[in-house]
Amino acid sequence: MLRHHIGLQRVAQVWFKNQRALSLQEYQSKGLLDKHGCIVQKFVVAESRNEAEKKLDGKHFDEYVVKAQILAGGRGKGRFVGGPKDLGGVYITHNKKAALDSVPEMVGRKLVTKQTPKAGVLVEKVMIAEGVEIKRETYLAVLLDRDSNGPVVVASPAGGVDIEEVAEKNPELIFKEVIDIDVGLTNEQALRLARNLEFKGPLMEMAADQIRRLYELCLSVDATQVEINPFVETADGKVYCVDAKMTFDDSAEFRQKEIFAMGDRSDLDPRELDAHKYNLSYIPMDGNIACLVNGAGLAMATMDIIFQHGGKPANFLDVGGAVTEEGVFQAFRIITSDPQVKCVLVNIFGGIVNCATIARGIVAASRRITLTVPLVVRLEGTNVDEARRLIAESGLPVISANDLNEAATKAVKAIG
Ligand code: GDP
Ligand code: MG
Repeated sequence: MLRHHIGLQRVAQVWFKNQRALSLQEYQSKGLLDKHGCIVQKFVVAESRNEAEKKLDGKHFDEYVVKAQILAGGRGKGRFVGGPKDLGGVYITHNKKAALDSVPEMVGRKLVTKQTPKAGVLVEKVMIAEGVEIKRETYLAVLLDRDSNGPVVVASPAGGVDIEEVAEKNPELIFKEVIDIDVGLTNEQALRLARNLEFKGPLMEMAADQIRRLYELCLSVDATQVEINPFVETADGKVYCVDAKMTFDDSAEFRQKEIFAMGDRSDLDPRELDAHKYNLSYIPMDGNIACLVNGAGLAMATMDIIFQHGGKPANFLDVGGAVTEEGVFQAFRIITSDPQVKCVLVNIFGGIVNCATIARGIVAASRRITLTVPLVVRLEGTNVDEARRLIAESGLPVISANDLNEAATKAVKAIG
């Protein structure tokens, strides 16, 4: 029972993690912030010392902040694999030459932070920003909240540090404003947030104005999250968005083409990228049964039953509702390219999906890709009779199953 439960949890976790959510690099997010009137430091982006030198030609800052661009936080406290011991992913210096010299120390190296995989993430670009004199660091985020079924603004005067830690140790320092999407962020809410962030006098109005702009930005670009950590107060009485992390709703890709075109998906598994091209979603796992399914619910049920029978999925490929024969072929190609796959299990419940389309795809795919592992197929729903006939007439060595339980039993048995 426990094992069963862990299985379900794991697929749910992986599933949600894999719900395509585009993230942008800090410099890209800050570009958007700037466009929407949010205050960010001046900066340039470079891939080499040379490029940085050219872009900073004639520019002189009191302080330079060189920041490794990766899609993970905690860079300040991070370290480079094989890099100088004292160099983190955020390097602050008054010396222009030292700033430029740090570029090749970062680019081409992997940066390890609390939020990256252990091996680190390759740095391909750095941002060099004009340093600001920080007096106070606070935390600010606009995000979609499941509890309130809408946007919320989360703020904490204890910024610049890991917000999860603040939430755990000092929950009283986290403030939340639930926003009515039809009304928007009210003046009263923006001011209350600014006050809770401990901005005083004219700074309170400035901070409230920034909060309003962040909220507007979030709506206009279909962001699911905009996190500014730290949102700072400077010694000369200004506010700045010093760090920015934005995540977008992938369902909005069609109307946010510019943003999605900026998206760098190199952090994803190549098979996930491959699947994405065909509107399929691929979830890597660590077992040996490849699963072709439709819908997240069915994937979880499939996972669960496979576990119950002592098997382990190698992956899941969700073909969605609008899949074509070609899509099924691509799905097959992708899941069978995992060398650890010892069996393929197709589990389709045809509601919107037409089982005959799936069957035609399976038959075509098994012919085009010489399948060397057993194939167990369970189809149910729309046009299932025709689908079964197509498979039977194909003469392929398909192991048919009438229900999910039988399919899982057969798949586990086929591996032996
Ligand atoms: P993260 O470590 O990946 O979250 O990167 P951040 O951009 O949040 O930077 C980490 C920390 O570096 C911040 O919390 C600040 O304390 C410091 N920092 C970043 N930019 C500046 C700056 O312009 N001036 C100063 N004085 N400190 C900065
Ligand atoms: Mg930060």
